[in-house]
Amino acid sequence: MKVELADYAGACYGVERALSLTSEAASEHDKVHTLGPLIHNPQVVSELAERGICEVQRVEQAKEGVLVIRSHGVAPQVIDEARQNKLKVVDATCPYVKKAQKAATELRRQGYNVVIVGEKGHPEVEAIDAHAGSQSLVVQDPADLPEELPAGPVGIVVQTTQNVTHLDDIIEALRKRGVEPLVRNTICFATTQRQESAELLAHKVDAMVVVGGRNSGNTTRLAEICELVCANTHHIERPEELDPAWFSEVQKVGVTAGASTPQEQISAVVNALQQL
Ligand code: SF4
Repeated sequence: MKVELADYAGACYGVERALSLTSEAASEHDKVHTLGPLIHNPQVVSELAERGICEVQRVEQAKEGVLVIRSHGVAPQVIDEARQNKLKVVDATCPYVKKAQKAATELRRQGYNVVIVGEKGHPEVEAIDAHAGSQSLVVQDPADLPEELPAGPVGIVVQTTQNVTHLDDIIEALRKRGVEPLVRNTICFATTQRQESAELLAHKVDAMVVVGGRNSGNTTRLAEICELVCANTHHIERPEELDPAWFSEVQKVGVTAGASTPQEQISAVVNALQQL
């Protein structure tokens, strides 16, 4: 069976940067905490825990030392609270996430009601929402739009890892209701590259394997994109999950991986597929 890797797959700039800032902090300080899992990849998070880099869910759980803000970012008040609690803050918010936060702030200041196209409850979306003002709405599908929109102009910002079709669907639904939104497309280049190359590859193979945390939204969306083109698509975290039965009639399998999947995990899956 031939195995082909997507042109763009795996850990992105923002994730690499967050990991390197955290390692740097751990080499200089004894107590390093991350606010939530540093990345949505359980294997990497356990490796960090083995090195003494522990996860806290709330600022007050870190009693001293360093608090790392992950690439998803946080509400500005969270950073203020950490500094008031005398913690050293290492802000690993991805610059592309900061761009989305800034776009939300600007739209709010210009008087727009901000619509965030993104996954409700996702930490990045909650952080963007904290910049977007009290009239903001988080929607992923047109069905999430309320029957009555707040009065006034609508500005859109987008979760950096969203699928562009979700954005297009929301724009179309708003236009049908006579609203012409001002769109700030803040989907990041790494997401676009990974989604486009995954889709391209899925057209050329008989099966697709998508590697990454099940809790990773961007990996899940890659799997959804591949599944639309190639029904024999499987989202896995580790090579042990590969089932030979999936590949019984497969000549060529494609591999892609989410933005929070390190290279070693991708290589392990590619090697395991080559052994089948
Ligand atoms: S997916 Fe994009 S926005 Fe998110 S961390 Fe990676 S580079 Fe940054």
